[in-house]
Amino acid sequence: MRIFDKIEELQEYLAFQQAKGKSIGLVPTMGYLHEGHLSLIERSAADNDVTVVSVFVNPTQFGPSEDLETYPRDLERDKRLAEQTGADVMFTPSPEEMYPDGYRTYITVEGLSGMLCGKTRPIHFRGVATVVCKLLHIVSPDRAYFGQKDAQQLVVIRRMVRDLNLSVKIVGCPIVREADGLAKSSRNVYLTEGERHRAPILYQSLCMAQQMVEAGERKADTLRDAIVEKIQSASPTRIDYVEIVGSDTLEPVTLLAGRVLIALAVKFGNTRLIDNIELEV
Ligand code: AMP
Repeated sequence: MRIFDKIEELQEYLAFQQAKGKSIGLVPTMGYLHEGHLSLIERSAADNDVTVVSVFVNPTQFGPSEDLETYPRDLERDKRLAEQTGADVMFTPSPEEMYPDGYRTYITVEGLSGMLCGKTRPIHFRGVATVVCKLLHIVSPDRAYFGQKDAQQLVVIRRMVRDLNLSVKIVGCPIVREADGLAKSSRNVYLTEGERHRAPILYQSLCMAQQMVEAGERKADTLRDAIVEKIQSASPTRIDYVEIVGSDTLEPVTLLAGRVLIALAVKFGNTRLIDNIELEV
């Protein structure tokens, strides 16, 4: 696996690959790789000749009181895992390489960025859209891979790609979970033993809602109340939101119909976990 930390050197290498007719897949990550990330790398390696994994803890998507400084990092382990999983190239730029002095340009996907997680993380999706747009320009991939775990991120990126006529196929990949249902996340390492023990309640509550829908329930309020009650009965957590929205619009629904997303964000201690389930009603 080749490793680049300079944009120009990466572009020179990839231009050479593209000139040979090689297809390119991009997997953007913030590193501290786990099986969720590795599933995206595997998928890209199966679909493309060259898989590029970027590892960049993007400062512009963290709010002032968020965990930018403490975000877990282990680049040596990431290199090993990515290579074993089929990555051909790793891109590890510094913040200065991505945002040099005088940087002024940001991308805002209006509306979609202010919903769900955007309510409590007002600059988050501006940072995500900006860094993903930059990575897409730098790498010029045929396909780029994102996890359904960050469902809102996927909607925002698909919208940006359509709106800006970017010629890349965005591929959404299923959520990879621990054996007890907890969605894999780099931030799970922040959980105390007790919090880790209680955290599977999130997926359990989503599965309960799915069963209620399968049994005929269509009222979003009823489902939301049931999820909130189940989470609160199991654990003294702070629920950021539980929302039932259209899968593509992220607009709240009253009665479930078509493709809907049940999404939630919950704080266990200082750790904010997100999860979701998509249903076809
Ligand atoms: P991150 O490093 O958290 O920014 O995630 C990088 C990519 O991996 C994003 O597209 C995430 O949605 C995806 N990802 C993170 N966790 C999971 C998971 N448990 N299952 C599937 N994809 C994931």
